[in-house]
Amino acid sequence: MALTFDDGPRAGTSQQVTAALRRAGDQATFFAIGGAVNDATQTMLRNDTRYGMPVGSHTMSHMDLPMIMRSGAEHREFDEASARIAQASGRPVTLLRPPHGVADEASRQYLADHLGVGIALYDVDSYDWAVGATARSVQWKVTAQVRSGSIILMHDIHRHTAAALPHILDALRAKGYRTVTITELIDRYPRPGYVYYSRDNIIPW
Ligand SMILES: [Zn+2]
Repeated sequence: MALTFDDGPRAGTSQQVTAALRRAGDQATFFAIGGAVNDATQTMLRNDTRYGMPVGSHTMSHMDLPMIMRSGAEHREFDEASARIAQASGRPVTLLRPPHGVADEASRQYLADHLGVGIALYDVDSYDWAVGATARSVQWKVTAQVRSGSIILMHDIHRHTAAALPHILDALRAKGYRTVTITELIDRYPRPGYVYYSRDNIIPW
Protein backbone atom coordinates (compact mmCIF):
# COMPACT_ATOMS: atom_id res chain seq x y z
CA MET A 1 0.00 0.00 0.00
CA ALA A 2 1.03 3.62 -0.51
CA LEU A 3 0.95 6.32 2.16
CA THR A 4 0.62 9.87 0.81
CA PHE A 5 1.15 13.20 2.57
CA ASP A 6 -0.39 16.43 1.24
CA ASP A 7 -0.16 20.16 1.99
CA GLY A 8 3.53 20.39 3.01
CA PRO A 9 6.29 21.18 3.20
CA ARG A 10 5.98 22.65 6.69
CA ALA A 11 8.92 23.02 9.09
CA GLY A 12 8.58 20.64 12.04
CA THR A 13 5.82 18.23 11.06
CA SER A 14 7.13 17.43 7.54
CA GLN A 15 10.56 16.67 8.98
CA GLN A 16 9.00 14.47 11.69
CA VAL A 17 7.08 12.50 9.07
CA THR A 18 10.13 11.93 6.88
CA ALA A 19 12.23 10.95 9.92
CA ALA A 20 9.62 8.43 11.10
CA LEU A 21 9.49 6.86 7.63
CA ARG A 22 13.28 6.71 7.46
CA ARG A 23 13.61 5.18 10.94
CA ALA A 24 11.16 2.42 10.07
CA GLY A 25 12.58 1.85 6.58
CA ASP A 26 9.23 2.81 5.06
CA GLN A 27 8.30 4.81 1.94
CA ALA A 28 5.66 7.39 1.05
CA THR A 29 4.69 9.86 -1.68
CA PHE A 30 4.43 13.60 -0.95
CA PHE A 31 2.18 16.17 -2.64
CA ALA A 32 3.62 19.59 -2.00
CA ILE A 33 1.96 22.98 -2.33
CA GLY A 34 4.08 25.11 -4.65
CA GLY A 35 3.43 28.21 -2.55
CA ALA A 36 4.87 26.47 0.54
CA VAL A 37 8.21 25.83 -1.17
CA ASN A 38 10.77 28.45 -0.20
CA ASP A 39 14.41 28.75 0.85
CA ALA A 40 13.62 27.35 4.30
CA THR A 41 11.53 24.36 3.17
CA GLN A 42 13.04 23.24 -0.13
CA THR A 43 15.68 21.02 1.50
CA MET A 44 12.85 18.91 2.96
CA LEU A 45 11.71 18.04 -0.56
CA ARG A 46 15.28 17.42 -1.67
CA ASN A 47 15.71 15.01 1.25
CA ASP A 48 12.51 13.13 0.37
CA THR A 49 13.88 12.60 -3.15
CA ARG A 50 17.24 11.51 -1.77
CA TYR A 51 15.46 8.86 0.32
CA GLY A 52 13.63 7.57 -2.77
CA MET A 53 10.29 9.22 -1.97
CA PRO A 54 8.66 11.09 -4.88
CA VAL A 55 7.23 14.59 -4.55
CA GLY A 56 4.18 15.41 -6.66
CA SER A 57 2.21 18.64 -7.03
CA HIS A 58 -0.76 19.77 -4.96
CA THR A 59 -1.12 23.03 -7.01
CA MET A 60 0.40 26.41 -6.15
CA SER A 61 -2.20 27.68 -3.68
CA HIS A 62 -4.47 24.69 -2.90
CA MET A 63 -7.20 25.86 -5.27
CA ASP A 64 -9.91 23.44 -6.48
CA LEU A 65 -9.19 22.24 -10.03
CA PRO A 66 -12.54 23.37 -11.53
CA MET A 67 -11.92 26.83 -10.03
CA ILE A 68 -8.42 26.92 -11.52
CA MET A 69 -9.86 26.19 -14.97
CA ARG A 70 -12.72 28.68 -14.60
CA SER A 71 -10.44 31.49 -13.45
CA GLY A 72 -7.71 30.90 -16.05
CA ALA A 73 -5.08 30.17 -13.38
CA GLU A 74 -3.74 27.02 -15.08
CA HIS A 75 -0.28 28.34 -15.78
CA ARG A 76 0.43 29.46 -12.23
CA GLU A 77 -1.41 26.71 -10.36
CA PHE A 78 -0.18 23.79 -12.51
CA ASP A 79 2.89 24.72 -14.58
CA GLU A 80 4.63 27.11 -12.18
CA ALA A 81 3.87 24.94 -9.16
CA SER A 82 5.29 21.84 -10.89
CA ALA A 83 8.41 23.73 -11.93
CA ARG A 84 8.99 25.05 -8.42
CA ILE A 85 8.46 21.65 -6.81
CA ALA A 86 10.66 19.90 -9.38
CA GLN A 87 13.44 22.41 -8.82
CA ALA A 88 13.31 21.90 -5.05
CA SER A 89 13.02 18.12 -5.13
CA GLY A 90 15.47 17.59 -7.98
CA ARG A 91 13.06 15.34 -9.88
CA PRO A 92 10.35 15.96 -12.47
CA VAL A 93 6.77 16.00 -11.20
CA THR A 94 4.81 13.04 -12.63
CA LEU A 95 1.70 13.10 -10.40
CA LEU A 96 -0.75 15.72 -9.17
CA ARG A 97 -3.09 15.38 -6.19
CA PRO A 98 -6.19 17.60 -6.65
CA PRO A 99 -7.05 19.68 -3.56
CA HIS A 100 -10.20 18.30 -1.88
CA GLY A 101 -10.06 15.33 -4.28
CA VAL A 102 -11.97 17.18 -7.01
CA ALA A 103 -11.02 16.96 -10.71
CA ASP A 104 -13.29 17.83 -13.65
CA GLU A 105 -12.90 16.99 -17.34
CA ALA A 106 -11.34 20.33 -18.28
CA SER A 107 -8.62 20.05 -15.65
CA ARG A 108 -8.05 16.40 -16.50
CA GLN A 109 -7.55 17.31 -20.14
CA TYR A 110 -5.13 20.11 -19.28
CA LEU A 111 -3.09 17.87 -16.98
CA ALA A 112 -2.96 15.12 -19.60
CA ASP A 113 -2.23 17.19 -22.69
CA HIS A 114 -0.29 20.10 -21.28
CA LEU A 115 1.45 19.05 -18.09
CA GLY A 116 1.76 15.32 -18.83
CA VAL A 117 1.04 14.16 -15.27
CA GLY A 118 -1.19 11.50 -13.76
CA ILE A 119 -3.84 12.31 -11.15
CA ALA A 120 -3.37 10.62 -7.78
CA LEU A 121 -6.52 10.24 -5.70
CA TYR A 122 -6.97 7.69 -2.87
CA ASP A 123 -9.25 4.98 -1.56
CA VAL A 124 -8.55 5.52 2.15
CA ASP A 125 -9.03 8.87 3.92
CA SER A 126 -7.32 9.14 7.31
CA TYR A 127 -9.56 12.14 8.18
CA ASP A 128 -6.53 13.72 9.81
CA TRP A 129 -7.82 17.05 8.42
CA ALA A 130 -11.14 16.84 10.31
CA VAL A 131 -11.96 18.96 13.35
CA GLY A 132 -11.26 16.93 16.48
CA ALA A 133 -8.86 14.47 14.78
CA THR A 134 -6.34 12.90 17.15
CA ALA A 135 -3.35 10.59 16.72
CA ARG A 136 -5.62 7.76 17.85
CA SER A 137 -8.45 8.55 15.42
CA VAL A 138 -6.00 8.83 12.52
CA GLN A 139 -4.38 5.51 13.38
CA TRP A 140 -7.76 3.81 13.65
CA LYS A 141 -9.10 5.24 10.35
CA VAL A 142 -6.03 4.05 8.46
CA THR A 143 -5.66 0.59 9.95
CA ALA A 144 -9.41 -0.16 9.79
CA GLN A 145 -9.77 0.77 6.09
CA VAL A 146 -6.47 -0.26 4.49
CA ARG A 147 -6.45 -3.02 1.86
CA SER A 148 -3.72 -4.43 -0.31
CA GLY A 149 -3.11 -1.86 -3.05
CA SER A 150 -4.57 1.09 -1.11
CA ILE A 151 -3.54 4.72 -1.53
CA ILE A 152 -3.96 6.48 1.82
CA LEU A 153 -4.60 10.21 2.25
CA MET A 154 -2.75 11.97 5.08
CA HIS A 155 -1.26 15.45 5.65
CA ASP A 156 2.24 16.22 6.88
CA ILE A 157 1.15 19.56 8.37
CA HIS A 158 -0.61 18.14 11.45
CA ARG A 159 1.12 17.24 14.69
CA HIS A 160 -1.39 14.46 15.41
CA THR A 161 -0.52 12.89 12.04
CA ALA A 162 3.22 12.98 12.74
CA ALA A 163 2.53 11.53 16.21
CA ALA A 164 0.37 8.73 14.81
CA LEU A 165 2.74 7.72 12.03
CA PRO A 166 5.18 5.46 13.96
CA HIS A 167 2.19 3.56 15.40
CA ILE A 168 0.55 3.29 11.98
CA LEU A 169 3.76 1.90 10.47
CA ASP A 170 4.02 -0.67 13.28
CA ALA A 171 0.37 -1.68 12.86
CA LEU A 172 0.64 -2.00 9.08
CA ARG A 173 3.76 -4.12 9.39
CA ALA A 174 2.02 -6.36 11.95
CA LYS A 175 -0.83 -6.85 9.42
CA GLY A 176 1.72 -7.91 6.79
CA TYR A 177 1.63 -4.76 4.65
CA ARG A 178 4.61 -3.22 2.93
CA THR A 179 4.76 0.51 2.20
CA VAL A 180 5.70 1.59 -1.34
CA THR A 181 5.58 4.78 -3.38
CA ILE A 182 2.64 5.23 -5.77
CA THR A 183 4.99 4.63 -8.70
CA GLU A 184 5.97 1.26 -7.23
CA LEU A 185 2.34 0.48 -6.37
CA ILE A 186 1.22 0.87 -9.98
CA ASP A 187 4.43 -0.72 -11.25
CA ARG A 188 5.12 1.93 -13.91
CA TYR A 189 5.61 5.60 -14.66
CA PRO A 190 2.26 7.35 -14.02
CA ARG A 191 0.39 7.87 -17.29
CA PRO A 192 -0.74 11.40 -18.19
CA GLY A 193 -4.44 11.96 -17.48
CA TYR A 194 -4.96 8.60 -15.77
CA VAL A 195 -6.67 8.78 -12.37
CA TYR A 196 -5.21 6.51 -9.71
CA TYR A 197 -7.49 5.67 -6.78
CA SER A 198 -5.63 2.49 -5.79
CA ARG A 199 -3.60 -0.24 -7.46
CA ASP A 200 -6.82 -1.96 -8.52
CA ASN A 201 -8.90 1.11 -9.38
CA ILE A 202 -7.32 3.13 -12.18
CA ILE A 203 -9.44 5.22 -14.54
CA PRO A 204 -7.71 5.50 -17.96
CA TRP A 205 -7.74 8.72 -19.96
ZN1 LIG B 1 -4.69 19.45 0.46
